[in-house]
Amino acid sequence: MYSNKENLKEIISEEKILSRVKEIAYDISNKFLDEPPIFISILKGSVIFVADLIREMNIDCEIDFIQVSSYSGASSKESIDFIKDISININERDVIIVEDIIDTGLTINFIKEKLLELNPRSISIATLLMKPEIANIDFEIDWVGFEIAPEFVVGYGLDFNQKFRNLRGIYILGGNESE
Ligand code: 5GP
Repeated sequence: MYSNKENLKEIISEEKILSRVKEIAYDISNKFLDEPPIFISILKGSVIFVADLIREMNIDCEIDFIQVSSYSGASSKESIDFIKDISININERDVIIVEDIIDTGLTINFIKEKLLELNPRSISIATLLMKPEIANIDFEIDWVGFEIAPEFVVGYGLDFNQKFRNLRGIYILGGNESE
């Protein structure tokens, strides 16, 4: 039994996610036909997205992980710390950062800046979700799965206090309370 399942309201179904993930993978595959890109998945939220994404790719690709501190509960932290750095060399390689959600943009700004110091040939960004009304970024996001309203969501890798990552769709937490 899920705790608080009655407070979850589905906003994006598993079917819609998987079909969008296929489109993004197709697009990425066509863009990197000559040399395998390195996917850098931001732990923990993007693990499900990156797992589905790379299995839909029809070119070679590599994968690595990075972890920074971010949310604790439902409120954003102002500063970011590294918990786990990448372990492969990205010098002169094409890197695709895989993020679960861009909220304020703080995390993606920090990670992009850090990875640029390692001299990759290119950096692109794929995020499953984005909250365009509050995201503060001054560069293009190459692949956005879905734009959503500035509400706290869970599922498909996204948690609330480490729970709900295994839900197959995307849900608003507390969604039924406002109805
Ligand atoms: P940002 O730095 O863009 O404000 O936040 C990015 C990180 O905060 C995401 O990688 C994710 O871990 C967390 N986050 C932001 N918005 C949400 C949300 O609506 N739900 C969940 N579960 N995590 C979120």
